[in-house]
Amino acid sequence: MEKHLENPVFKLIADCADRLGVDAYVIGGFVRDIFLKRGSKDIDVVTIGKGIELAELVHKKLGKEANLSVFRNFGTAQVKFKDLEVEFVGARKESYDRGSRKPIVENGTLEDDQNRRDFTINALAIGLNNANFGKLLDPFGGLQDLENKIIRTPLSPDITYSDDPLRMMRAIRFATQLGFTIEERSLQAITDNKERIKIVSKERITEELNKIICAPVPSVGFKLLFDTGLLHLIFPEMVKLQGVETVKGKSHKDNFYHTLEVLDNTARNTKDLWLRWAAILHDIAKPATKRFEPDHGWTFHGHEDKGARMVPKIFADLKLPLNEKMKYVQKLVLLHLRPIVLAKTEITDSAVRRVMYEAGEDLDDLMTLCEADITTKNPNKVKRYLHNFEIVRQKMKELEEKDKIRNWQPPVSGEEIMEIFNLEPSKKVGDLKNALKDAILDGIIPNEREAGIGFLKEAFEKMK
Ligand code: ATP
Repeated sequence: MEKHLENPVFKLIADCADRLGVDAYVIGGFVRDIFLKRGSKDIDVVTIGKGIELAELVHKKLGKEANLSVFRNFGTAQVKFKDLEVEFVGARKESYDRGSRKPIVENGTLEDDQNRRDFTINALAIGLNNANFGKLLDPFGGLQDLENKIIRTPLSPDITYSDDPLRMMRAIRFATQLGFTIEERSLQAITDNKERIKIVSKERITEELNKIICAPVPSVGFKLLFDTGLLHLIFPEMVKLQGVETVKGKSHKDNFYHTLEVLDNTARNTKDLWLRWAAILHDIAKPATKRFEPDHGWTFHGHEDKGARMVPKIFADLKLPLNEKMKYVQKLVLLHLRPIVLAKTEITDSAVRRVMYEAGEDLDDLMTLCEADITTKNPNKVKRYLHNFEIVRQKMKELEEKDKIRNWQPPVSGEEIMEIFNLEPSKKVGDLKNALKDAILDGIIPNEREAGIGFLKEAFEKMK
């Protein structure tokens, strides 16, 4: 074990702890990550009493380069040194009140502190005093669980999850991030306690949800959220995607599992959280727009448009940011069918220019999403669709070189239009602007100022 504590800061902590007569242990994520071979820069040190004093002494010994923050109300202190963050906290014993996930805290032993941890793999501790330096303290078989890839709670899962229901989200998050299995008893306890999630703030839930979405195979987490019933409580719009209806022998696909496939496909090509969110939401309005038309079978007309309009409420409900990230997701949801239409029909320059103009700098992301949306199990179809997208991409490249559409601005601005035609800000200005944009994108007039003004004059006359 000692070789994992080779950073000199550990030895320094040991010397300081011995000097103050304090028992100190490194605990939690840092120890878990040693065995998972994931480097971690966040070090949690638990002490039996005098946590703040130990932090102060360590800070003093580290010298000027170190930074100390003390949170007396919480009985914790943090020392930052180079790229390390060491958190010092006295060992605690916790007891919970049913209405809140905030425990009543009292000083405790190392054992009390390990008991209050969420999972056996997060309860591992290593001795930091010189007498037990590097000694692993693993009271719940966390090491074995790491080897067997099991998420298990140290105490009864019913109590652990009911005490702090955020742990249900954390269990699913760790299972997804690490590719671990949640112990059967624990999974049952999550199902049984799912309603308790209501006492957790939406921000904390979404923080875990975002970590699930950023995992290598995010569908693992969504399936667990769905199967335990948590998803129904935290993100009901997504649950509505699930299910297959059959009318006159015709069935549509299950849009929940389709969405998860699209999400996993997207995750293979990008680490970006927001592009992954666009994958989650691309078909979100399918349930609301679903119709059975006797001649066509199942249709979802306008689901891209309605889906984009649903995004702000979903973001607000989940406490996701209502800023340019949301606008980006809306844009991709709105445009997600456009490259597919291009790939299916005879490609015209004008149609390709339009998609390029509307997607702007997010064009590559839109193409990534569209390719991820191919979930057919027929390998010939996959090949054909990908080939078609290749043609679309090629066409886009040619047009971009020629016309520079992606970050294009029309040659006459709205302000100039108001000036030339002596107009107040009004719908008419918008209509003229759009007519000019359309004429250029359709190749009716060249992308030049003079031609633009000539065109606008004609259009203005016609509007009279
Ligand atoms: P990551 O660094 O991947 O976010 P982590 O669990 O290591 O995960 P923290 O969330 O900072 O990081 O938690 C540090 C430690 O605190 C955990 O390893 C665990 O022992 C304990 N812990 C955190 N949250 C809880 C909780 N809700 N209930 C019980 N123990 C918890």
